[in-house]
Amino acid sequence: MSLPTILDVAEVRAVRRVSPSFVRVELGADSFAELGPDGPILDQRIKLVFPGVGGRLPVIEPTEDWYGAWLAVPEDERGSMRTYTIRDIVGEGVDTRMVVDIVVHDPGEHGESSGPGNDWARAATVGDRVLVLAPRRGHVYGGIEWQPGDATDLLIVADETAVPAVYGVLRDLPAGAHGTAYLEVPGTDDVLDDVVGPAGVEVVWLPRDGAERGAAIVDRVLERLDRTADAHAARLAHEAGVDDAEPVEDDGEDLVWETPVFSGAGEEVADATATAVDGPYAGLYAWIAGESRLVTGLRRRLVKDLGIDRRQVAFMGYWREGVAMKG
Ligand SMILES: Cc1cc2nc3c(=O)[nH]c(=O)nc-3n(C[C@H](O)[C@H](O)[C@H](O)COP(=O)(O)OP(=O)(O)OC[C@H]3O[C@@H](n4cnc5c(N)ncnc54)[C@H](O)[C@@H]3O)c2cc1C
Repeated sequence: MSLPTILDVAEVRAVRRVSPSFVRVELGADSFAELGPDGPILDQRIKLVFPGVGGRLPVIEPTEDWYGAWLAVPEDERGSMRTYTIRDIVGEGVDTRMVVDIVVHDPGEHGESSGPGNDWARAATVGDRVLVLAPRRGHVYGGIEWQPGDATDLLIVADETAVPAVYGVLRDLPAGAHGTAYLEVPGTDDVLDDVVGPAGVEVVWLPRDGAERGAAIVDRVLERLDRTADAHAARLAHEAGVDDAEPVEDDGEDLVWETPVFSGAGEEVADATATAVDGPYAGLYAWIAGESRLVTGLRRRLVKDLGIDRRQVAFMGYWREGVAMKG
């Protein structure tokens, strides 16, 4: 039985360091003629498996239990699986290419591995191969979290790992969309001019340039939310207990993943649409992705301190400082 998703070895067709922190690869495979979700790409996530010892990629039968089959491969031949985003799909037919922006980062201060994804991207050249798990047109795949419903005020917050997803979301927004995107990147040279949305969506870049991760972003987001709502009404609504959800504790190695339709912490998830929510933040939809502690901290501020309904917010840990991701 073949899989309703694409599970194929792809080849690097082009690679370019577009900025100090982003390596852009174009991956190609014959099966990519059918690549993509059926609708807009938005923040579509995919899996890449980087070669293991000796540069070999594992051979995995394309069946429903592809993940079990991958885990059954001896560890030193299995390679390393990581999650990325389809930034774009270009070309046609068998020349269809998947564009992926991979953030290159330095090894951690405690001498942790610099990461197989990072190492691969730094050295990538045309002809290199990687295993790709991605959506096939005409089949359900999942992996798109952008679900603003009828929201009229969009708040997007991302660090560099979620910039490719934000590029896709902004590109695919309707012309009348309204909101703000805050993008934190390592340095001024990592600001990418083509990350643009409709006229009503302001894009604010926050290069760290050596400052602490998240230092600027939290204040800017809170400032922005103050402007969105009547502060007095927000306080009263919160005191009346709009949302009593406890913040997710951030003491393990897990990534925070709390969206209107899924709770990684097991909280009850209501039949959620942004329009069902009243109060001073009615109409708001927030999509927040990046380093897990930054995301958890913002969740605490938005849900606990400001009383924003969790049905209006997607909080997604994309990676965690000091922790190597596992497939
Ligand atoms: C839905 C989703 C979509 C994603 N999309 C993208 C994408 O399009 N592009 C992209 O680059 N990443 C993306 N990521 C994040 C990516 O999966 C992680 O950064 C992953 O850890 C990279 O793997 P690695 O092999 O480089 O490092 P790992 O082996 O996972 O980690 C090794 C060490 O590097 C550190 N590290 C990992 N990433 C970074 C970083 N960016 N900066 C500094 N230190 C880091 C870790 O904390 C650890 O100490 C996405 C994640 C998710 C969940």
